[in-house]
Amino acid sequence: MGFGTKSKCSDGPADNEAAVQVKGLLKLAYALGASHAAMIAPHEIMVEDRLADICANGRCENYGLSPGCPPHVSGPVGFRELQRKAGYAIVFRMTASARTLFSDECTTLMRRLQEVAAKIEKAAVRGGYRESRAFAGGSCKKLFCHDQADCAVLSQSGECRYPDQARPSMSGFGINVCELMKRCGWPSDIRPHDGEADADTTSWVAGMVLII
Ligand code: SF4
Repeated sequence: MGFGTKSKCSDGPADNEAAVQVKGLLKLAYALGASHAAMIAPHEIMVEDRLADICANGRCENYGLSPGCPPHVSGPVGFRELQRKAGYAIVFRMTASARTLFSDECTTLMRRLQEVAAKIEKAAVRGGYRESRAFAGGSCKKLFCHDQADCAVLSQSGECRYPDQARPSMSGFGINVCELMKRCGWPSDIRPHDGEADADTTSWVAGMVLII
C-alpha cells in the first residue's frame, strides 16, 4: 500500500493522477486534525441493513430531524449504489479522550468531524471528482441547528444553514464503522498503553469520503 497510509487492503488507484489526488486528500485530512487517514477500495466498506434499522427501531432521538438522518437518507440501498460508482474511499478518524465524548466538548468534536469530512469532499470535487460524497457521525440538527426549531431544508424554509460543514451520519447508511477501522488496519479500541493517551482511555470518531 502506497501513499504513506496505514491501509492494508487496497492497492491504490491505478493511474498517476488519482494517486496524486489520494495523496493530497490524505495530507489534507491530517492537516485538518485527523489522527489517522487511509485510502481503501469502496467495496471494502461493509454495509449492513440491520445497522441502519437501529436508527428507527432504536428510536434514536435524532431520527427524522435532518436530511442527514433516516428516513431522509437513501440508506444502505443508496450507499451501495454510490459504492459501485466510487473509485476509492478516504477514511479518517480523530482521537479524543473517552471523557471528551461524554462531556459538552463532544459537540465541538463532532462539529469538527463533520467539517473535516466536508472539506475533504470539497477538495475532491475541486479536483474533478464532482460526485464525491462525505459521511461523518452525529446529527447536524443537534450539532449545528440545536437552537433552531426546525431544519431549514426539511421545513422548506430555506437552504441548509451550514452547507460547508454539515454532512450525513454513516449510521443511517448502515456502514459498519468498527469493521471500517479494521479494514484500515486501525485498532477499534485504543487504550493508554498504546501510547496515544497519557491518562484517559483514548477513543475516536470517524468520517469517510467516497471519491466519485
Ligand atoms: S439546516 Fe442544514 S445543518 Fe441545519 S439541520 Fe438542516 S441540514 Fe442540518
